[in-house]
Amino acid sequence: MKSVNEIRSSFVDYFRGKGHEGVASGPLVPRNDPTLMFTNAGMVQFKNVFTGVEKRPYSTATTSQKCVRAGGKHNDLDNVGFTARHLTFFEMLGNFSFGDYFKDEAIAYAWELVTKDFELPKDKLLVTIYSEDDEAHAIWKKVAGFSDDRIIRIPTSDNFWSMGDTGPCGPCSEIFIDRGEHIWGGPPGSPEEDGDRFLEFWNLVFMQYEQQADGSRLELPRPSIDTGMGLERMAAVLQGVESIFETDMFRHLIDATASVVGKAPTDETVASYRVIADHLRSMSFLIAEGVLPSNEGRGYVLRRIMRRAMRHATLLGTNEAAIYKLVPALVREMAQAYPELSQGEKLITETIHLEEERFLKTLSRGLQILDEQAGSLGEGDTLDGETAFKLYDTFGFPLDLTQDALRNRGIGVDVSGFQNAMARQKAEARANWSGSGEAATDAIWFGIADRVGATEFLGYETEDAEGEV
Ligand code: ATP
Ligand code: MG
Ligand code: MG
Ligand code: MG
Repeated sequence: MKSVNEIRSSFVDYFRGKGHEGVASGPLVPRNDPTLMFTNAGMVQFKNVFTGVEKRPYSTATTSQKCVRAGGKHNDLDNVGFTARHLTFFEMLGNFSFGDYFKDEAIAYAWELVTKDFELPKDKLLVTIYSEDDEAHAIWKKVAGFSDDRIIRIPTSDNFWSMGDTGPCGPCSEIFIDRGEHIWGGPPGSPEEDGDRFLEFWNLVFMQYEQQADGSRLELPRPSIDTGMGLERMAAVLQGVESIFETDMFRHLIDATASVVGKAPTDETVASYRVIADHLRSMSFLIAEGVLPSNEGRGYVLRRIMRRAMRHATLLGTNEAAIYKLVPALVREMAQAYPELSQGEKLITETIHLEEERFLKTLSRGLQILDEQAGSLGEGDTLDGETAFKLYDTFGFPLDLTQDALRNRGIGVDVSGFQNAMARQKAEARANWSGSGEAATDAIWFGIADRVGATEFLGYETEDAEGEV
């Protein structure tokens, strides 16, 4: 059985064998794109190549890209631990054509790789296409011999990708596997599609238009290909397990957690182990790139991920710093593919340890305040936004931590009250801001916060805008 590390190599080797340039993962903090919080897809490092602004010495490429979806447009944070397929940090395997091959080859490669090299059962596979994409329909029929009911036409933007309001865009086609009736869920387009029976593992994007500002679309003279396969999802499929968290890599991380907390997971506690294993990966990779926990922007999303993992560690009964002890296990699993982990091991360990000490110091005081304020509340009540904000501001309780702590008592939190308090504080901070001396940078950051709203900027948006690779 192939390990996660072997599956990564198989994918990249397959496309290198087809003449693709093997390119290293781009950074998680995208360069030259302050509007994007974290790299969330393989195409991010190639944006300027697709638009033609930048030239490379190759016209096809393959990568395994580090991705984080924990804030902004793609936010899977709240899914983690509760679905079988979502992580905040994952690796997206991709093949790219920059005006080289197009739909025919992209579909033929995908089919060959999954049915020959990965030996997936053909009769369990099905695909979605954009409803108007008759070309993709015909190619899938020819290449895979699918009957019409296994090529599902989706009319929504889920199957139409665009880079932004203008620029390259086009239909996409997603590949799913039916993992059997014993797993709840329905095929894409059905009311039960959010279940895990039909697992989406690969998205092929056919960039064939250029969106104009006036709403019209021009045909690109040399259309391009951008694909993304979730490595961990593929591993779950190939290893015959239901969830990403049962693959070899996650089993090792969960075992390490069990030995640090001194307890094996049970049905009641397994979600905490999963959250910790996932969040350990996101926080370590972000710190390795120099992101540090703070109360602003990217640093705040990182802090939120870290504190969430730490809160789950306390739920498992630890009352001293524990997460930092898991770093060696992660280095063992992933440093061969990502040497920045071993290079940054000391920084990662110390940053996590320090944040844990800080967190534990304020946790008990914060929980006490929460108890006092929420003590008289009962099922169906709401904690006021000012208190939630005070917990955030003074005790470093991210909003979702407060929500988490109250959830099992059936108490909600006034989110818009929280956001108002936050916005008021931001306005005051800005009025007092003397600037970093870099006017352009300040303008960019404040500009983003204004445009997307302070709360989304901080990663509070929970809606998952999909369909983007
Ligand atoms: P889903 O509908 O399951 O949330 P998606 O449509 O948002 O997935 P894409 O944007 O199409 O995902 O990304 C391409 C591939 O990356 C997906 O087919 C999947 O294999 C993988 N992927 C996406 N999000 C995650 C995640 N949060 N965790 C692990 N893998 C993911
Ligand atoms: Mg998604
Ligand atoms: Mg998709
Ligand atoms: Mg999807």
